[in-house]
Amino acid sequence: MMVPLLDLKAQYRSIREECLAVTEEIYESQYFILGPRVEELEAGIARYCDSPYALGVSSGTDALLLALMAGGIGPGHRVITTPYTFFATAGSISRVGALPVFVDIEPDTFNISPDLIRKCIEDMPEAQRKTVKAVMPVHLYGQCADMDPIGDLAREYNLMVIEDAAQAIGSEYKGRRAGAMGDVGCFSFFPSKNLGGFGDGGVVTAHSGQLYEEMKILRVHGGHPKYYHRKIGGNFRLDALQAAIVSIKLKYLDDWTAARQENAGNYRRLFKEAGLEEIVKCPVEKENRHIYNQFVISVERDRDELRQFLTENNIGNEIYYPVPLHLQECFAYLNYRKGDFPVSEHAATHTLALPVYPELADQQLEYVVEQIRNFYFKR
Ligand SMILES: *Cc1c(COP(=O)(O)O)cnc(C)c1O
Repeated sequence: MMVPLLDLKAQYRSIREECLAVTEEIYESQYFILGPRVEELEAGIARYCDSPYALGVSSGTDALLLALMAGGIGPGHRVITTPYTFFATAGSISRVGALPVFVDIEPDTFNISPDLIRKCIEDMPEAQRKTVKAVMPVHLYGQCADMDPIGDLAREYNLMVIEDAAQAIGSEYKGRRAGAMGDVGCFSFFPSKNLGGFGDGGVVTAHSGQLYEEMKILRVHGGHPKYYHRKIGGNFRLDALQAAIVSIKLKYLDDWTAARQENAGNYRRLFKEAGLEEIVKCPVEKENRHIYNQFVISVERDRDELRQFLTENNIGNEIYYPVPLHLQECFAYLNYRKGDFPVSEHAATHTLALPVYPELADQQLEYVVEQIRNFYFKR
C-alpha cells in the first residue's frame, strides 16, 4: 500500500471545477495582482480568524518580514523566538537586521516555553533587556503556543507579539483564534499548509488599524500616496489567482480540519490498541483546538531506523525539523552551542511526522500503525 505524507491531488479532484472556472475568469479579466479577489479573501480571512484586519501578502515568510518592519524592528533590536521551527521564523528576524534570541520549547507541545522566556528576559543585563522589542511564538504543527503568559510578559516588558501562525489557521487557544491574540498574526498559503494556494502566498492579521495601515503601505514599497515614499517597503503583494483559489478552499477548511482531527483520534486509539503507548508518544492537546497541520509522534528509540523502515514500506514521513535553528551554520554568529536547548535538540532526534491529511483512508492509517508495530515488535 502507498501512503504519501500529503496527497494534494485528492483534494484538487474535489474542487477542480470551481478552481478552473475562477482561473478562467481571472485570465479573461487580466487583473492579476491585488484587487477585488484579494480583498474578498482578506475579508474572509479576517472573519475566519476573528481578527479586525487581514492583508494578503506574497508568502508566510513575507508576512513575518512585513510584521517586523511595521513594528519598526531592525538593527540593535532583539526578538525572542523558538529554535524549533521552520527556518523563516528566525530568518525573517535576521533579515530586518535584528538578533534572534532563542528560548527552548515545552516537551509536550514543542511550543516555546513562557517560563523560559521570562527567565531569558530576567537573566539579561538591563541594557540588553531594553533592546528586546518583540516575541515571536510559533503555533507549531497546528497547535497554539501558551499565549496567556506570553501576553502577560509582552505587557510587562512592552513587547510586540508576532504570532507565526503559518501552520495554524483556525487553531484556537482557550477559545481564541490563532492570529487574533498577538499584535500581528502571520499565515502561509504554501501548498502543504492546511489552507494552501496553487503557489506562494500568505496573509497577515492585525489587531490595530494603525499596524494594518502601516503594513498595507509597506506591502507596496512603502509608497503612500503612490510614488511618494516616507518608508522603504517591498513587493509583498498577493496574486489574484492565489487569492481566488484560497477563497474557494476556505469554504471547505473546517471540514478538512475535522477530517485531520478524526485521523489524529484514530492514530491515538490504534497506537494504544497496538500496545505502542510506551514507545510512541502522540501529540498532546492542551486547552486548544489543534488543527493538525502535522501529526508528529515522538518515539522512545530508533527514530532514524523507523523512518527508513516506513520509507521502504511506502509510507511518507518527514522530520520537522532535523536541525534546531541555534545549530544552523548561518546563525553561528549568535554563539549558541550544542546543549543550549536540550528539549529542542531531543525533539529534533526523536520526532517524526506521519500522514494525517484529510483524504487519508482508514485502511491507509491502519497500515501506518501496523507497520510501526511491525518495526518495534517483529523485527
Ligand atoms: C511555512 C512556514 C513559514 C513560511 O511560509 P512560506 O509561505 O513558505 O514563506 C513560516 N513559519 C512557519 C512556522 C512555517 O511553517
